[in-house]
Amino acid sequence: MDIALVGIGKIALDQHVPALKSSDAWNLAATVSRSGKVKGVESHADFDAFLKARPDIRVISLCLPPVPRFDYAEAALRAGRHVMLEKPPGATLSECEKLAELAQSQRLTLYATWHSRAAAMVPAAKEWLADKSLKRLQVTWKEDVRRWHPGQDWIWEPGGLGVFDPGINALSILTEILPDKLHLKNATLEVPENKQGPIAAALDFVHPKGAKVSADFDWRQEGDQIWQIEAVTDAGTLLLDEGGGRMFIDGQEHSASAMALSGEYPRLYARMAELLATGACDTDFEPMRHVADAFLLGHRKIVDPFYD
Ligand code: NAP
Repeated sequence: MDIALVGIGKIALDQHVPALKSSDAWNLAATVSRSGKVKGVESHADFDAFLKARPDIRVISLCLPPVPRFDYAEAALRAGRHVMLEKPPGATLSECEKLAELAQSQRLTLYATWHSRAAAMVPAAKEWLADKSLKRLQVTWKEDVRRWHPGQDWIWEPGGLGVFDPGINALSILTEILPDKLHLKNATLEVPENKQGPIAAALDFVHPKGAKVSADFDWRQEGDQIWQIEAVTDAGTLLLDEGGGRMFIDGQEHSASAMALSGEYPRLYARMAELLATGACDTDFEPMRHVADAFLLGHRKIVDPFYD
């Protein structure tokens, strides 16, 4: 099926293009980006002109940062196209909900992707936790912003989410693997004095059965990068490591199924094909709700200025 990719930047080139090129189900028919291009693929610089020029391309995958993405998503849905959104699905919850309503009313597929939910061991962790009684859970998501987001100013701006840009990946896994729904109780956001977004955040959640659930996000991590969720239960301890890529139960590593090993972005595009085949939408905004709550409830601590 033909698809157009919009916003040819870091994630489009690192993940979307290789996933589409290696798929039998998809044909990357066009790109839309003000300056980015993919060699050998028809390119457009203006989105409205593209929508008029290529009405035959029915599916559009949006890889822009969250703030500019809404206008593109709305225009695509109004033009009758099915839409796939990078995470986070919007700059605000209202934007997310508006897009979901629009897709529903137009009878179009909208897929708000969470790439970390497609990590190899997330389904296995969900299955293992389903019948366990949780005692405590700690998320530790610590990475070096200079290494992963060089020169990306938008992540520090309002709507860019700061450290929640990676942190929401952890929250997308957390909300997928836990059988019980959480809500935020406390948050502390550390904001560099020269930035709008936090560089670190600590969150405490209320768990309906009393387990202690916390998350620690930090963008100042040098050396080893840590993307871990540790869940202590009545029947042992689960460690989901490397962003959901590896799982250990009481120190013993478990392996993934062949399907799970296909990679996060190939799995997202397989899911989009499935949604289109069944005429369904997949729009779970729960991870975004926790981030919005952290911005609503969080204590702000001003910390040292940050320079790239
Ligand atoms: P990026 O490289 O900074 O931006 C992607 C492209 O969007 C840019 O190359 C630019 O293309 C276009 N763009 C940027 N600002 C725009 C604006 N104001 N108006 C119109 N187009 C604009 O960002 P990214 O790292 O790929 O991230 C994009 C999304 O993917 C984010 O939501 C992010 O959270 C998510 N994501 C990123 C990563 C990662 O490793 N970076 C991983 C997973 C998910 P043109 O200048 O050519 O128009």
